[in-house]
Amino acid sequence: MPDMDAKRPWEASRRGLANQLAEIDGLLPGSVVVRRMRCGKPTCACRDDPPSLHGPYIQWTRTLGGKTVTRYLSEDQLARYQPWFDNARRLKEIAAKIEIASLHALEQSESPGNPPGTPTPSVPRHRPPLRDP
Ligand SMILES: [Zn+2]
Repeated sequence: MPDMDAKRPWEASRRGLANQLAEIDGLLPGSVVVRRMRCGKPTCACRDDPPSLHGPYIQWTRTLGGKTVTRYLSEDQLARYQPWFDNARRLKEIAAKIEIASLHALEQSESPGNPPGTPTPSVPRHRPPLRDP
């Protein structure tokens, strides 16, 4: 590990997390629930004891424009898209870690005590030369 990273561990960690973000090539919102259900027929096997329930039904629920949208997935579809559902959770975890690393980086490199809004010294601004009247 280069010396600079050893002195600034939060910087290295932030870069490592950013690399993990690059691995996320797909994501799907919402949650997946697998259900087995009873139907309405009184003589159906799902009413037996022990019951033979219908399903599994794979319900994918998400919010779209403020409304809850449910869609059923086949087991094959779930197998195909499971990594994208996992990625959505992973993205949140990585984002939270990047936030922590960034906060630490800020605390390490900025001196405390400056009132909020104090501009960081930077390259001086070039004003257009004033013309004599
Ligand atoms: Zn039934």
